[in-house]
Amino acid sequence: IKIKITEVPIPVGFAAAFEGERVRKEDMFAEFGGGRTPAWELVRMRDMADVEDHRIEVIGPDIDTLAPEGGKLPLAILVEVAGKNMQEDFEPVIERRIHYFLNYIEGVMHIGQRDIMWLRISKSTYEAGFRLHHIGEALYAKMLDEFGNIIDKVQVKIYTDKEKVIKLAEEIARPKYEARDARLAGLTDESVDTFYSCLLCQSFAPAHVCIVTPERLGLCGAVSWLDAKATKEINPTGPCQPIVKGECKDEIKGSWDSINKAVQELSHGATKEVNIYSIMENPMTSCGCFECICGVMPEANGVIIVNREYAGMTPLGMTFGELASTTGGGVQTPGFMGMGRQYITSRKFLLAEGGIKRLVWMPKELKEALREKLNQRGKEIGFENFADMIADETVGTDPDSVVAFLNKVGHPALTMDPIM
Ligand code: SF4
Ligand code: ZN
Repeated sequence: IKIKITEVPIPVGFAAAFEGERVRKEDMFAEFGGGRTPAWELVRMRDMADVEDHRIEVIGPDIDTLAPEGGKLPLAILVEVAGKNMQEDFEPVIERRIHYFLNYIEGVMHIGQRDIMWLRISKSTYEAGFRLHHIGEALYAKMLDEFGNIIDKVQVKIYTDKEKVIKLAEEIARPKYEARDARLAGLTDESVDTFYSCLLCQSFAPAHVCIVTPERLGLCGAVSWLDAKATKEINPTGPCQPIVKGECKDEIKGSWDSINKAVQELSHGATKEVNIYSIMENPMTSCGCFECICGVMPEANGVIIVNREYAGMTPLGMTFGELASTTGGGVQTPGFMGMGRQYITSRKFLLAEGGIKRLVWMPKELKEALREKLNQRGKEIGFENFADMIADETVGTDPDSVVAFLNKVGHPALTMDPIM
């Protein structure tokens, strides 16, 4: 791990070394978001004239109003940037860094993104004199430090006034999030001539290479094809490099000579071949930061998916943590694969094995979050309310109860070709 110390004018430490630090409930002074209060964060591009460099505003009560016992506040962090070389496509790439930069602050914990963000400030950091405008100082310094080639000016607005947080979420933040998703939704793997590699995770999984396509985002869930493209434009020699597709060898498995060549080079020979739509035959490698793990359940002739937040048992007899230790590390493990949540409802999901028809079990919470898209995908292949055909922990976590349920609902996986 590279430790870079940047001088930022805040009363507590600021370094990458604080990144993994947790703020536990008993050490916490202030809390924002995480489902407890409305909260969101956004980076948006403005005209040069609309950004006053280094202007930091706190609109609403600061955290000292929570003294002495501490408490919760709504929060919106709106970072507005301007620059000759800035483009709207760069906004999500810069916005993702809010997560890293705030975690660099001693006694500050940031989880999630967009309007599911969650922030905690510790008691000792509050007592050291840390106030909300220091969030702005940290973001100001780091954004210019890391993106000086595209940003000339930065201003930060921090809202804690509940009405404003809610109103601006509707007016500014959500329309932006939706527009970004919609742009990506219109893209298919066939409609572009270039995919991207991402090597960001080689710092801890040295042979790992993500291939990022419009219909398969990075397994961390934070790097879409548009984000990889923007990362390349911002930093031409950086972690994301283009792979010109060329002729496709197998559209169902997702096999290209260009990808195999790139993976061989970038993994230093560790991986020879990757089929980007297959879990059984030369699947993509997994680093360690996957949002979900997909694994074959032989008894059901299908696959299960488990997300990081689910702490319970799965029908494979392993928890997420146990599966993660056999799936990660940058090696190919046929039958197991890390993936981003959005890939589950992609039309390219396990295309080589028959697609979403193989999906037999997932935690209830994940299923509910994806219900609408699962049903939409199910409809396309001839099943109404497909989400209800997928078992979850309320059905059971042992193979027998899962298979009994699948038989009862007539799940398609049971009558497909053997998966292995
Ligand atoms: Fe890049 Fe993949 Fe790591 Fe995400 S998981 S940062 S896409 S290498
Ligand atoms: Zn990773």
